[in-house]
Amino acid sequence: MFAAWEGAGGKRFLFHEKPESLSLAVGETTVLTYDRAGRPYAAFLKGRNYRRGLDNRVLEKWSEVQAGRKVRRRRWLSPAEAEHFLDRLRGLVQEVQADLGRGPVRALQGPEDWRERVQAGLATLLRYDGARLEEERQRYRQIYGSVSILPPDQYRAVVVQATEGCHWNRCIFCDLYRDRPFRIRSREEFRAHVQEVKSFLGAGLTLRKSIFLGDANALIVAQASLRAFFSILEEEFGLLPPHLSGPERAAWRAAHPEGMEGVYAFIDAFSPQRKAVEDFAELRQRGLRRVYVGLETGHAPLLRWLNKPGCPEDLGALIVRLKEAGLQVGVILLVGAGGEAFAAGHVADSVALVNRLPLDEGDLVYLSELVEPPHGEYSRQMAADHLTPLSPEQMRLQREALRSGLQGPSDRRGPKVTTYDLREFVY
Ligand code: SF4
Repeated sequence: MFAAWEGAGGKRFLFHEKPESLSLAVGETTVLTYDRAGRPYAAFLKGRNYRRGLDNRVLEKWSEVQAGRKVRRRRWLSPAEAEHFLDRLRGLVQEVQADLGRGPVRALQGPEDWRERVQAGLATLLRYDGARLEEERQRYRQIYGSVSILPPDQYRAVVVQATEGCHWNRCIFCDLYRDRPFRIRSREEFRAHVQEVKSFLGAGLTLRKSIFLGDANALIVAQASLRAFFSILEEEFGLLPPHLSGPERAAWRAAHPEGMEGVYAFIDAFSPQRKAVEDFAELRQRGLRRVYVGLETGHAPLLRWLNKPGCPEDLGALIVRLKEAGLQVGVILLVGAGGEAFAAGHVADSVALVNRLPLDEGDLVYLSELVEPPHGEYSRQMAADHLTPLSPEQMRLQREALRSGLQGPSDRRGPKVTTYDLREFVY
């Protein structure tokens, strides 16, 4: 349902009720978006974008021009600022509600009963007051602990944790899972966890179209357990079968409003549980769609220096097996790793390795800027080895060198090369 109207003061309003979300636009400069349960999800206010995570944190993003170049900026609101911000959104919705109740208004577009339907929609947007959002935050913590990271194309996935943490946890540039020991959930625990996630998201589940199997490398779990986990996902959500034609997919979606379009996960190349092409092909049949591999670099000395086990060629061989199994792949390269001393080798060997891989237009190459973790291991190692980090400008140039090296010949329909900014992750 879509409705547009003009309020008493001449201001224009739009309300859009979609299967996955509800949105309200006030004038030209304000758009608020909610999930179907009524949780604030995103907002655009006076040129700035805001994203609220399920943990109730709020990220603010905007652009600035610096030395003639557009620069992206971001910051996390403090808890007090986030609370104030979410109150402000409620206040805005209440004002629209009052304005609509008072009239007179001029309907511009919408069904005959638009006013009643918009009022019902606005009541949904007011379901989550401060106390309820705080309860949500606590429930989120109890269900997930935390969700450390997702690839950008999966920010709107439903995260379910088959494992917790990372079984290696010692790469010097990464602190994503240092707060928890690695463990694999039992099948019973996994089913209970999935059911809790579903009940937590409730009507908000429709905002999410895919499942992300966390945490860092859930696909290292033994194949028999993965088979059981995928069966649980199929039973609890319904997974879009592969190989459906366009009209069949549309019919399946209509019949399965909570159904998910596939399962996505990270994997590493150095676990002892090495999977064969047949194992990956079986998981593909069960709903696995894309697997993300933290290659970081094609330059073996740099990978060693980063304390990541294995070698780039092992990671390349893993990606080849994933492709042979018919899966899509997301390859992550770490921009700026190792600073100036490693820069030339990092760019040359990464471009050479990735360009040798059988990637196609369904695959992604993410250029992820190194963000020094607060535990300090990366910066201590840089200092100990007398290495100089890249300046922001050198970082930009390295990103561009990787990007242009990965373009490939113009007749090749290669992977999409795009950026991955850890600092913009919100679940
Ligand atoms: S980069 Fe990957 S393998 Fe290394 S510690 Fe982080 S999650 Fe684990």
